[in-house]
Amino acid sequence: MLDRIRAIATKLSPRLIEIRRHLHSQPELSGQEYQTAAYVAGVLSSLGYKPQELVGKTGVVADLPGQNPDQGALAIRTDMDALPIRELSDLPFASQKRGVMHACGHDVHTTVGLGTAMIMAELDLPLPGPLRFIFQPAEETAQGARWMVADGVMAGVAAILGVHVYPSIPGGNIGIRYGALTAAADDLEIMIVGESGHGARPHEAIDAIWIAAQVITTLQQAISRTHNPLHPVVLTIGQIQGGRAPNVIADQVKLTGTVRSLHPDTHAELPAWIERIVAGVCQPYGAKYEINYRPGVPSVQNDPNLTQLTALCAEEILGQDQVQIILEPSLGAEDFSVYLDHAPGSMFRLGVGFVDQPNPPLHHPKFQVNEAAILPGIMTLAYAACRYWHEA
Ligand SMILES: [Zn+2]
Ligand SMILES: [Zn+2]
Repeated sequence: MLDRIRAIATKLSPRLIEIRRHLHSQPELSGQEYQTAAYVAGVLSSLGYKPQELVGKTGVVADLPGQNPDQGALAIRTDMDALPIRELSDLPFASQKRGVMHACGHDVHTTVGLGTAMIMAELDLPLPGPLRFIFQPAEETAQGARWMVADGVMAGVAAILGVHVYPSIPGGNIGIRYGALTAAADDLEIMIVGESGHGARPHEAIDAIWIAAQVITTLQQAISRTHNPLHPVVLTIGQIQGGRAPNVIADQVKLTGTVRSLHPDTHAELPAWIERIVAGVCQPYGAKYEINYRPGVPSVQNDPNLTQLTALCAEEILGQDQVQIILEPSLGAEDFSVYLDHAPGSMFRLGVGFVDQPNPPLHHPKFQVNEAAILPGIMTLAYAACRYWHEA
């Protein structure tokens, strides 16, 4: 089986590089992936799939039918959107759309999804259950996965696999992470409402700036004393607005920030915990407050069995020395987690680093991909799909 996968992948390699470069040169912003989706659907149709378009706004879904429709499906999810960044590379296939760039490697993800669909079509195996290819829009704005789920793509799905490129892992190597891969990322807005007054007569006013300063300090201190330090939380207030004049006591201050956490229990406690701290600071001084806590995407928690399946497949394909266990999670966010509310899943990291040149980070205008990563990514997913029903 593996030899066949390897042979097909090697044969397809020039075509896959061509696809990736085409996608790279034609990036589209989140929710506007019309050309990309049409291109993906075109490739899938040419392989004999019957892709559904305009799923989750601009997403594409295609199934490889299984022998038993009652068997749960295995889904493979890749994302298609680019970022509002002006590409600063001199690549011959650099972005042709000014101010838009595939700086997060989603061009590679889409190629990997298509390449896996090509291999599975050519293998033409009697799969026990359906294999579903999900090409998702708008990952960068953390909306696309919800759109896809709302349109029913997780109906009948028993497990889901995903992939993300990673510049600090050498090209073609694979990073495996057991447990938490990325963080939950929520938005926080706190309005402190005091009472205005003369700057010389603070006792007649309620100083919202002074109280806001204490709210920020107390939140940061309390994080270290009231949360399990093995369950990290990062709270960053990135914006603060308030006050009208140097000699007028401010009656309102607005604080906005982002809250990142890894452990689901900690994540669930955060809104009430923040409110307790803010209330405890405001009440003695008579200030009022309003808190708007907006949950973003949850943390990606990789399922142990599916993670082991991808690890075993990658090791067999690449050799153990090219498969690394990732020891630390990231506090970045990834909306792959939204699918995990519906089925267990696992996402692996695909190394796209260069040995001989430093690679700028994701979302950088000079970000580049080592294309040696494309075949290992495809072979790992195809092999995992072949083995999934037999080992589930
Ligand atoms: Zn990104
Ligand atoms: Zn990304």
